[in-house]
Amino acid sequence: MGKSLRSRLALTLIKKKLPELMSADPVAQMGDGLHIAVVGSGSPLPDPKRGNPCICVIARGKVYVVDAGEGSSQTMNRMRIAPERIAAVLMTHYHSDHIGGLGSVNLMRWVSDASLPALRVIGPPGVEQVIGGFNQAYELDDSYRVGHHGPGIINPESARMVPAEYSFPEGERSKVVLEEDGLKVTAFTVEHPPVEPVVGYRFDYQGRSAVVSGDTIYCQNLIDNSKGADLLLHDALSIELLNLVEDAAGKAGLSARKQILTDVEDYHATAPRRQTQPARPASEPWRSPTSFRHFR
Ligand SMILES: [Zn+2]
Repeated sequence: MGKSLRSRLALTLIKKKLPELMSADPVAQMGDGLHIAVVGSGSPLPDPKRGNPCICVIARGKVYVVDAGEGSSQTMNRMRIAPERIAAVLMTHYHSDHIGGLGSVNLMRWVSDASLPALRVIGPPGVEQVIGGFNQAYELDDSYRVGHHGPGIINPESARMVPAEYSFPEGERSKVVLEEDGLKVTAFTVEHPPVEPVVGYRFDYQGRSAVVSGDTIYCQNLIDNSKGADLLLHDALSIELLNLVEDAAGKAGLSARKQILTDVEDYHATAPRRQTQPARPASEPWRSPTSFRHFR
C-alpha cells in the first residue's frame, strides 16, 4: 500500500472515529454505585504496559483520584475518564512515582471547563510543600495559556491546585477526611519506612466500600481498616522479578542500582510466589489489570 493511500485511509478513519471519541463519557453510563478504575499500577521501573500509581474512585459521577503518578492523565484520557469530572485528588505519600503526573492531571482538568473550581489535593503533611512546588513550576505555562485563549476560556482563578492538609489526632491512626454526596473517605496510616507519613484510604458509599492501601508492608492498621470491604487494592512487588533485575544489575557492574533495588524490598509488601498462587478456575474470566470495577 502506498504511503499517500495509507495517510488518506488513516485520515478517513480518524474523521469517522473522532466525534465518537470526543463525546465518549463512560462515567455517565455507570449506574449509581462505587466504581474503581485502575489507571496506573506500575513502579518507577519502566513498563510500557503500566503507568505509575493512580486509582480513580467514582461515585455519583464524580472522580476521586488517589495518587497521580507519571502518565496518569494520558491513561485517564485513553479510558475516557473526563478530567472535568475530577472532584479531588487524595495523596497517599510523596514518592516521585506517586506525584509525577499531578501537573498534567491538573492542567487537563483546568483547561477543560472554565467554570470549575480549583482542584483540591487532600493529603497528610507535605501536601502544601508538594503542591506549592507544582503551582510554582506551572506558573509560566498557566500565564501562556490564559494569554493565548483568554480568561473566558481558561479561568486564571482556578489554575493553581489547592492543598488541603490533614493530620491524625494524638494517638489516632485513622480519620474521616472527606464527606460529600454520600461518599465517606477515611484516611489511615500504613507502614512504608523510612517514608513518613504514608496513608491508605477507605471509600464508603451506599453500603459498598473499597480500600486503597498506598505503599506499605504488612500492616495491621490496613487490615483493621479493610474489614468488610468489597475490594482491597494492595501494594505488592514481585520478589522473584526484582531479584532477577538485581542480579542483572550486579552482573552489569551497576552496584548502586543493585543496592537501591535490594533496599526497595523492605518497604513494599510482596505478592505470593508463583507456585503458591491458587490456580484460577477455568470458568473464571481473565480480567485486565487496567480496568474498571463496579459495585452497586
Ligand atoms: Zn512509596
